[in-house]
Amino acid sequence: MEAKLLIQETTVVVFVLGGPGSGKGTQCPKIVEHFGFTHLCAGDLLQAEIESESENGTMIHNFKKEGKIVPSEITVKLLQQAMQQSDNNRFIIDGFPRNEENRAAFENIVKIKPEFVLFFDCPEEELTRRILNRNQGRVDDNIETIGKRLKVYFESTLPVINYYNSKGKVQKIDAQRSVNEVFEDVKSVFAKFKPVVRVDSTK
Ligand code: ADP
Repeated sequence: MEAKLLIQETTVVVFVLGGPGSGKGTQCPKIVEHFGFTHLCAGDLLQAEIESESENGTMIHNFKKEGKIVPSEITVKLLQQAMQQSDNNRFIIDGFPRNEENRAAFENIVKIKPEFVLFFDCPEEELTRRILNRNQGRVDDNIETIGKRLKVYFESTLPVINYYNSKGKVQKIDAQRSVNEVFEDVKSVFAKFKPVVRVDSTK
């Protein structure tokens, strides 16, 4: 497939933010299914780069192992590439921007401002509990790294959420409830985007 060179002006971007373990990866596939968005997970794009064993990959691996945020330009370029290669023009971007520098780099390089920011608000004890439960071989899901990741989240990502809040762009969701209850709130936030209509071929 030939890559598009430009990202269209009609492109809609929603940033999905919240602490590690707040449910971003759980809710995003549901948004894709119901509202026809393409899900771009910054973490997955970085992981794919690590697995490709490129020079970039080794550097990314070292940043992640330390619980640090990967340099903005690397992540933004990966996101931009994924958007250019997609046929869709609606994207939910999960786990990005992680800090102010990420945010500025995205706006400067991709030149798109988010439609809104979906913020999964969840207390620290619940985040820790969920991450330890999830521990499924991710290099960063262990008790030593969790502390660092939470610190990075509170120090670096919360200011991004506050920035967008000051612009009236944050849709805050209480993420401590069950997966289905959380999704009910997510659905009302996305209500202005038409739900995907499915034709049931079995009828
Ligand atoms: P994130 O992508 O924000 O790091 P995940 O979606 O991977 O978070 O969720 C972290 C862990 O918590 C997973 O094991 C997931 O199954 C679980 N989880 C997600 N949402 C909920 C919820 N509403 N209630 C309880 N557990 C949840």
